[in-house]
Amino acid sequence: MICMAVPEIETIALAEVRDTRDVGVVTSGPAWAAAHRAGLHLAPAWTDAPVDASEPAFAALAARCPAGVAVIYGVGGGLAADAAKYVARHHSLPLILIPTALSVDAHLTWASGVRRDGCITYLPTGAAQRVLVDTALIAAAPPGVRAAGICDLLSIATGTWDWHHAEARGQNPPEQAYLPWAAALAGEILAASLIVAPGAGRGEPAGLLDLLRLLALEVQLCNLLGHSRPEEGSEHYLAYALEAHPAIGAGHAHGDLVGPAIIRAATWQGQAVAPLHDALVAAGVPLDRVPAAVLDDVEQTLPQYVRRHRLAFGIAHELS
Ligand SMILES: [Zn+2]
Repeated sequence: MICMAVPEIETIALAEVRDTRDVGVVTSGPAWAAAHRAGLHLAPAWTDAPVDASEPAFAALAARCPAGVAVIYGVGGGLAADAAKYVARHHSLPLILIPTALSVDAHLTWASGVRRDGCITYLPTGAAQRVLVDTALIAAAPPGVRAAGICDLLSIATGTWDWHHAEARGQNPPEQAYLPWAAALAGEILAASLIVAPGAGRGEPAGLLDLLRLLALEVQLCNLLGHSRPEEGSEHYLAYALEAHPAIGAGHAHGDLVGPAIIRAATWQGQAVAPLHDALVAAGVPLDRVPAAVLDDVEQTLPQYVRRHRLAFGIAHELS
């Protein structure tokens, strides 16, 4: 068994970041400006952004990276992190990520999420070597995305439920067999995320660091298992299907879609929704970006969607 590890996490004021190598930066305009305002003084040889989150867009970005670049920095949210992982892997370069928001767990994972045929596929890229965390930078992020990574912790409620349900239905492949100890550990991470949600939502440095550490625990647990069943189930499937819906489309933050999807999936499962709802609100995750009529519409076709994309078994497969 080979278990991937999470990156080194270093808390640092961005003004102290020095790098004498030829630096390539994958970012977005707003993220790069925010990092500058926070004191980042890298002088990159190359700065670029992907046009979208598809594999062709990431490949085109990698092709534009000039020879001579010796290290890739990814500065931004989940899209910048995923694109930077792809570029670093393509050129076999070291990778450093600087999150401008804790919007998702992608800064800590070893795969790059790309959109393909209306769903998400994870390309193995390896993880970053280091994640540089300036809590002042993250605190200055828009409140709706600043701590939205809480969604990848609260999704344990619905993801682990699905994993257990799939076991009871005999639907788990042997390599994804339900493990009670792993579910118990995931449950503790979920309980802790309810505790840290308000502080992270207010942008307090301690709360943001707690959120980051819990995300690292969640990612490391999934790394040890070799799959993401404890935190990825029907709520993520619904979010992926929403992203493919013409009324929603790409360009939404992960939490904009996963947040409401957690509420909806927990309802299907007959779980208590209030603690999840309250934690999402406390963390600042917007719950009004997806019209209820669109949620209803996507729910109608979700059973076909999850089968078409061969997603792991969950409550979404049994909706009628
Ligand atoms: Zn997620």
